[in-house]
Amino acid sequence: YRSQGQPRDNSMGINLANDNALRDLAAAMNTAGIGQWTAAPLVPGAQPAGEAIAVTNPADRREVVGHWQAADATTVERALANAVAAHAGWDATPAGARAALLEHAADLLEARMPQFMAMCVKEAGKTLADGVAEVREAVDFLRYYALQAREHFAPITLPGPTGESNQLQLAGRGVFACISPWNFPLAIFLGQIAAALAAGNTVIAKPAEQTNLIGFAAVQLLHEAGIPQDVLQFVPGDGATVGAALTRDARVAGVCFTGSTETARLINRALASREAGPIATLIAETGGQNAMIADSSSLPEQVVKDAMGSAFTSAGQRCSAARILLVQDDIADKVITMLAGAMAELKVGDPALLSTDVGPVIDADACQVLTAHAQRMDGEARLIARTPLPPETEHGTFFPPTAWELPSIDLLREEKFGPALHVVRWKADELDAVVDAINATGYGLTLGIHSRIDATIDRIVARAKVGNIYVNRNQIGAVVGVQPFGGQGLSGTGPKAGGPHYLPRFATEKTVTINT
Ligand code: GLU
Repeated sequence: YRSQGQPRDNSMGINLANDNALRDLAAAMNTAGIGQWTAAPLVPGAQPAGEAIAVTNPADRREVVGHWQAADATTVERALANAVAAHAGWDATPAGARAALLEHAADLLEARMPQFMAMCVKEAGKTLADGVAEVREAVDFLRYYALQAREHFAPITLPGPTGESNQLQLAGRGVFACISPWNFPLAIFLGQIAAALAAGNTVIAKPAEQTNLIGFAAVQLLHEAGIPQDVLQFVPGDGATVGAALTRDARVAGVCFTGSTETARLINRALASREAGPIATLIAETGGQNAMIADSSSLPEQVVKDAMGSAFTSAGQRCSAARILLVQDDIADKVITMLAGAMAELKVGDPALLSTDVGPVIDADACQVLTAHAQRMDGEARLIARTPLPPETEHGTFFPPTAWELPSIDLLREEKFGPALHVVRWKADELDAVVDAINATGYGLTLGIHSRIDATIDRIVARAKVGNIYVNRNQIGAVVGVQPFGGQGLSGTGPKAGGPHYLPRFATEKTVTINT
């Protein structure tokens, strides 16, 4: 999708294959102040926050990378009052002026890519390649929603009978709570905020508890770009206190949430049980149980490469990641043998090293959930490969990339967020049943298809109830403005992030009819 008449380029990022660029990047990352990072509520008029909590590097828990302080109930209350008071002024600011501030923020962010990459690596355990992609996507979201605001928020004149003029105007809904995940601590965090601000809302942003430092630096950057302090506020804290206080409050007109399906349900329930205030909007992007289907016409080498890229990039911590590889039986043995061989070559380790393919998972809780899943799979499925963890991972929260062969997809329950792939065989006459089984999980986020038969591709595309389909490639890394991203069913409410219909959901519409 390209906006009419307005070309828009995606951020170029840093070329990690270029030695000079890599050397400059390493030098800049080393001076990024690792160890000194802080985060605290950014709420005008609030009292200083309490106790400082240490943040450690997921790849080596002995390394303290910074400290953060949580918002208490009084600070959240203050943030709500500020956000309400600031709304009218922000909403009256022309969309073009709001957009210009976001574009300025995009330029600042792009210029500070190494600083933010260092934070992505050290606080979120991202690899360098993921770090580049993360900052690029954040820059793209800022620019894309700015452009969309200019387009959508200009009044639209509609046809009417002679003597009557009709106009449709969009405006912000009010106060938006943006509650974001740790797996894209910059891109999704800023994507939500940029959209809500571009549409004329004031924003209270709550980052995931695991990635407060990145969120704080990002909000500071937006303030530096000119977004007023009371228009965008930062309230770090846990979901049970800060998140719950925001979602039950009648002053919150909308919530933009990315995270688990279970938490989305909790938020939905909280919004629905409010007895005052507007019927709140919920925009939720949640989990997936994503499959890749490969038929016997596909190239086994490419299937293995794309399945591994989709399952193990970002240590499988993407909601787009492939969890199930469904291979037609004619090529299954070959694919499984090649998969085991390729997994033996994966490098698990320090995400700050360019040679690392798979970094740590986010925390000890994530490790525990994955380990319990692995124990169940080891008992019920056949192990295909488990990439060994090298000794240098011992102080981090790492989980070994693992693949199992399962007799049926029914053995899988809810999404497991990590580098775990499940392979299931199917027979030629089972194609529709395979798609039906995927649909029956209730999730509907991404689907990969590998086939060289157009009729097969069309048949799967028509039957699958998912948001994003990728044919003969990997199924992660949706690009802003190119592959609008988001699912259906248990995977989210829509609209799609980075797509042309996202921004209007953050807005109210007013029709003005004048008898002239
Ligand atoms: N947009 C990301 C992708 O396409 C995934 C977002 C998420 O994990 O929430 O890989």
